[in-house]
Amino acid sequence: MQSWWQLFIQGCLILLLIAGGVVAWTGEVPPRQLAHRAIYRSAVMYTSWQTRNWLETESAHFCLRYRPEDSEVARLVLDNAEAAYLPAAELLQYRPKGKSLLVLHPDRASLAREFGWTASESAMGVYWNGVIRLLSPQDWVYSQDLEEIKRVFSSIGPMVHEYTHLLVDCKARGNYPRWLTEGIAQYVERQLIGFTMPAPAEITAWYPLARMDRGFDSLPDQSLAYYQSLVLVDYLEQRWGWEAVLQLLERLGQGDSLEQACRQILSVSLQEFEAMFNKAADLERQGRQKAAACF
Ligand SMILES: [Zn+2]
Repeated sequence: MQSWWQLFIQGCLILLLIAGGVVAWTGEVPPRQLAHRAIYRSAVMYTSWQTRNWLETESAHFCLRYRPEDSEVARLVLDNAEAAYLPAAELLQYRPKGKSLLVLHPDRASLAREFGWTASESAMGVYWNGVIRLLSPQDWVYSQDLEEIKRVFSSIGPMVHEYTHLLVDCKARGNYPRWLTEGIAQYVERQLIGFTMPAPAEITAWYPLARMDRGFDSLPDQSLAYYQSLVLVDYLEQRWGWEAVLQLLERLGQGDSLEQACRQILSVSLQEFEAMFNKAADLERQGRQKAAACF
């Protein structure tokens, strides 16, 4: 039997979909973007209900839900989010409406349960449909000293990366390939906190773009998939400028396909873009291998 709050959420979903249908019918917002907005709002609403018995603290732009065992670190997590807010918003040229929801999970098992993962999953943060879930630094920073936890969390923690995913999602209204959001999140992370994920030890070939969207998580070399995403965004930025990356997101947010956005902003087809990337990045890849061979 369903509990009253499940019925409440379902009721809200139906209302949102009806409201969405009316607005789509009047032609104000493209249906796909409208569906994204409805899913986004419903997911945030659902997570708020799901964590309604958790403790809560707020800042100017975030609302943080946490468990009593994380009372000591809740403030530093929230401060870290506020520190990321303005620089990330300026780089992405986007400020979300209202406060973004952060959920601080006390341990890996609690975070893994939300996604049906095993507790051995190493993610320290996950962005999904308007909600940023974070693994408590008490789980992975091996220090009892709050100042040390704060230093480590702000230098290698997941906040900037996950918050960038939220900004990309809002700006492009859910209409973007996975490689683009992973590349932009790593680009912003490197710009703002100087953190970069370790590059793969060896690259024998790049993945085709077509495999780097829905199939991203099942690509056999995850290190390569993330690294290639960053190299793709670096290539976009170096060849066309950061403004073009933002314009791509805007066009996608207006309902363009990636193909249309590429032609419009980069003046090349997606296939041409991929061929150009492969040519340019192959030189980089061969350069890396040559350099590695010297040692
Ligand atoms: Zn990511």
